[in-house]
Amino acid sequence: MTTTHADPAAPDEAALAAAKLREPGLVTCDACPVLCRIRPGRTGACDRYGNVEGRLARMDPLTVLARRPELVRFAGADWSGNPLAAQDVFVSAIGAGTTYPDYKPAPFIVGAEIDGVEMVTVVTEGIFSYCGLKVKIDTDRHLGPECAPVRAQGEQVGHVTTAEYGSQMLSLGGVRHLTGGSKREGVVTCETLLTLANGGAAELAVDGGASVIVQPGQAPIVDGVAEHRMRVGCGSAAIGMFAGQWLHHADEVIVVDDHITGVLSEHQAGRFLDMRPAGVRVRGRRSTPGRYFQVAEPGLGWGGTDITDPLAVIERIDPKLAWPGLRLLMVSTTGEHAAWFVLDEALRPVAAPMPAPVAAAVARIAENCEPALCTVLFMAGAGGSLRAGATENPVLLTRAVQRGRARVTAGGAPVYVWPGGGITFMVDVANLPANAFGHVPTPALVAPIEFTLPRTDYVRLGGHAGRVRHLADVLAEARPRAVTQPAHVPFPVPP
Ligand code: SF4
Repeated sequence: MTTTHADPAAPDEAALAAAKLREPGLVTCDACPVLCRIRPGRTGACDRYGNVEGRLARMDPLTVLARRPELVRFAGADWSGNPLAAQDVFVSAIGAGTTYPDYKPAPFIVGAEIDGVEMVTVVTEGIFSYCGLKVKIDTDRHLGPECAPVRAQGEQVGHVTTAEYGSQMLSLGGVRHLTGGSKREGVVTCETLLTLANGGAAELAVDGGASVIVQPGQAPIVDGVAEHRMRVGCGSAAIGMFAGQWLHHADEVIVVDDHITGVLSEHQAGRFLDMRPAGVRVRGRRSTPGRYFQVAEPGLGWGGTDITDPLAVIERIDPKLAWPGLRLLMVSTTGEHAAWFVLDEALRPVAAPMPAPVAAAVARIAENCEPALCTVLFMAGAGGSLRAGATENPVLLTRAVQRGRARVTAGGAPVYVWPGGGITFMVDVANLPANAFGHVPTPALVAPIEFTLPRTDYVRLGGHAGRVRHLADVLAEARPRAVTQPAHVPFPVPP
């Protein structure tokens, strides 16, 4: 029989915990379920809260938005918060702090008179387990099959979703990746979401597809190559847009596209211009005259196909219709790829120098392409317990939002609230001030959210009316930092 003895040198965990509880100066952060016990001069696990002289403190200052840049100069250490008109300042939730559990009133409930109406803004940093990013990547290049897993640091953090016009789309995050997989999957998902939400770059790899570096407002980098142009349209749209400019310069134009390849002389646009049928038949499935699907496999080549030799899309050339000397332009949907051929006596396409007017028409396609960018929308559900920080009857806040009586903003930026139940909103992360997002290690993202509504409505929906503090008092006490919004974002208070 083997007897085990406790190692006299091993610390007793219960004793350690008890000692920790007795440790002087510790403060417990109750802003999220992690409940960090923080030593003096240290911060908790998320770095958002710290122990400052024995007091729990939000480490980042409250951020207010100032309408005009010159107002920002008031944000020095001696700033009293005055003189600012209520129309010129908006208390955002960035740095406001979080209340957890949410039955406590929101950290700031700000009252101000705007245009003769008493308004209330409820301000809190929400903790979102139900959240994710919708990423739009302007590129023709095939990033991977629909539904393919998207990975960061080897962990699945999302998937490829339906492509949009000129863009490949990713859906990242969501409660399943944050909570439903391994601990590492949740942590990496949270890190990736936070990086992108705060404007940073993330390297993502698609199973069976490409690797892409994504950064909001920047061009995507696909397999190490920076993308420059967002397609002018699909192959059929390009035919419709430029048919008149090709007439007289080419006898046939084929716009190669992974989705809808266009063939000018067959297309309605070519017929409208009385173009002679050229007899150049492309592969794939004909949808309608001059519009072909599935001419090749998706890839990183011409028009998002795997084609590197454009002649590969030609199935045959009909000798009853084609003629020697026929001039054929093949071009991609961005104008990035283009080639010029002339049929020889045997009706074989022979590469030839592109005439200047044709080159100019190809350049016109490129000119009409917009710069390729990555766009990142944060999407989250605020229809849960967070509402209790605003009102004791949460459904009334939901109804006020749905009826347009309460306006939702995120860090002062306008949001889109989905119709239907709940308060499910989306916001362009580029519209928020820098570093507006945070995280907690549960793991979940922290995002600023504000609800603004008339004070009478706020009282009617069971709001925490007794906790409303006047704007001037909040500014004086919180000693916030003031920032201006990106120039294209509307100020959240009417002038
Ligand atoms: S993780 Fe952050 S918010 Fe959560 S308890 Fe710790 S310090 Fe507070």
